[in-house]
Amino acid sequence: MNAQHPTTTTTVSVLGLGQMGAALAAAFLGAGHPTTVWNRTPGKADALAAGGAVRAAGVAEAVTASDLVVVCVLDYTAVRELLDPVVESLRGRVLVNLTSGSPEQARETAAWAAGHGVGYLDGGIMTTPPGVGDSSNMILYAGGPEVLAEHRATLAVLGDPVDLGPDAGLASLYDAGLLGLMWSVFGGWLHATALAGADGVPARDFTALATRWLSTVSWFMTGYAEQIDAGEYPGSDATIDVQVATIGHLLHAGEVRGVDGRLPRLHLELMRSAVEAGHGGDSYARIIEAFRK
Ligand code: NAP
Repeated sequence: MNAQHPTTTTTVSVLGLGQMGAALAAAFLGAGHPTTVWNRTPGKADALAAGGAVRAAGVAEAVTASDLVVVCVLDYTAVRELLDPVVESLRGRVLVNLTSGSPEQARETAAWAAGHGVGYLDGGIMTTPPGVGDSSNMILYAGGPEVLAEHRATLAVLGDPVDLGPDAGLASLYDAGLLGLMWSVFGGWLHATALAGADGVPARDFTALATRWLSTVSWFMTGYAEQIDAGEYPGSDATIDVQVATIGHLLHAGEVRGVDGRLPRLHLELMRSAVEAGHGGDSYARIIEAFRK
């Protein structure tokens, strides 16, 4: 037995060979799964076909070729445009939808699949195409714990499969929230890198410490999550009052260097609201109340 190849030979079809779909198909192919591919613009299947994938002439042919049907196109509207006409061919098969969308679209698509006897998993890919196939990256799955259990070994070739349970909307909800977290981190990092860069610090040097700091920040978050779930925010480590004073140094340093201060001013505004509501002695986790309208 080849240790690199799975013991099962689940057949896989991949519909949508954009940047992400092509990476998914290449990962299945590389792991030894017989892989059928289809794309609206047929030329995008050329490289995969040259590598051993079977090129399907149409969506119906792609859907009926395999046990597992993976779709990764632009959005859910495109998913339904592609699959509505062939839904009877999907009956009894498993559809894994790795297209990004909203939780509402995911739940609606899960209901559509269930109504046609199609096994369904809704997924969120938490990496970019070069990270597909790296088991340190998460692929989120929701809507079918039993479907995921059955196909875990096959799907694991894409990344670490994380089961979010039976609510099909949760992969999209986590995905959206985690991307929001990423953009907030990018914003804070780029602001700070601009600040350090104004005094001649190369981005590489600052980032080496910034990434180390993120592991300390994640430790803070883990503790604050307990406070949020308990609904109590004791400021026993650092109070919002202290942080209002501290963020003043960041704003001052930015002003002196001509660095845009919109981001730290937003944080200050959130902190001041908490202080004005009488919560200056609480921990930073109290700020969650500002987001809960
Ligand atoms: P992409 O390179 O722009 O590819 C888009 C794919 O969707 C192409 O295969 C395109 O076909 C197809 N498509 C669009 N509209 C269609 C329609 N009406 N009917 C049939 N096919 C249609 O985008 P991508 O980066 O692969 O992203 C695909 C999905 O993965 C998106 O939902 C995206 O949010 C998600 N995703 C991407 C990343 C990433 O880093 N790229 C990460 C996580 C999740 P044609 O080739 O014919 O245009």
